[in-house]
Amino acid sequence: MRDLSRVDKAMAGPRPVVLSGPSGAGKSTLLKKLMKEYDGVFGFSVSHTTRQPRPGEENGKDYHYVTKDAMQTAVDNGEFIESAVFSGNMYGTSKAAVQAVRAKNLICILDIDMQGVRNIKKTDLNAIYVSIQAPSMDILEKRLRDRKTESEESLQKRLHAARVEVEFSKEEGMFDVCIVNDVLEDAYGKLKDVLLEEINQVKKTGMTL
Ligand code: ADP
Ligand code: 5GP
Repeated sequence: MRDLSRVDKAMAGPRPVVLSGPSGAGKSTLLKKLMKEYDGVFGFSVSHTTRQPRPGEENGKDYHYVTKDAMQTAVDNGEFIESAVFSGNMYGTSKAAVQAVRAKNLICILDIDMQGVRNIKKTDLNAIYVSIQAPSMDILEKRLRDRKTESEESLQKRLHAARVEVEFSKEEGMFDVCIVNDVLEDAYGKLKDVLLEEINQVKKTGMTL
């Protein structure tokens, strides 16, 4: 594995938060609510991806949209903490993305798949790992279909990956907490409870600066 010690030493501060779970479970919905309510507390780790932007998504905000060649070169140059292929596209967390958030002393939120979770666990990031799950596969499929962002082929790939992600979330010691996103406000309340200590810490530090 790549030597990450230099990066990690520069990354003291609040613990990052990793959100993971099947596509369509509600990760982006929950993290957007969190970032809106706690403006100046959380910062999103903007990943790179080779997939096309969806309507409404912004380059540099939701993702850095790049070509496969550019992404592969950056990965080969050691610019990424982790990277993975999901549903036929490359995704990855650059060192710069995490450092940008941590330099502001914000809680860094990562939205990554299970391969990313496995790889981030090998680093010294000392993250809080939160699994977001839909109440059932049927509801997950309905949410993905209603979102109207995927072709039938992409949808099937995501549902297939979702079954693996559900099993992964049950692996002993993988997640600190698993939140079933049934009623959005309830799931959001649970997420806030899990992160309360870190939120208060950042607010306290912010006030003394
Ligand atoms: P993910 O980021 O995990 O892929 P999204 O946040 O995009 O998932 O959510 C998938 C779809 O489900 C979106 O259209 C979103 O508006 C909807 N959604 C999210 N949470 C809920 C919920 N608790 N109840 C109903 N619909 C939801
Ligand atoms: P989407 O295409 O729906 O935005 O994301 C598809 C999947 O890729 C989701 O499970 C999401 O968590 C994951 N993902 C997004 N960014 C990254 C990343 O940087 N690394 C990894 N490993 N997965 C990511």
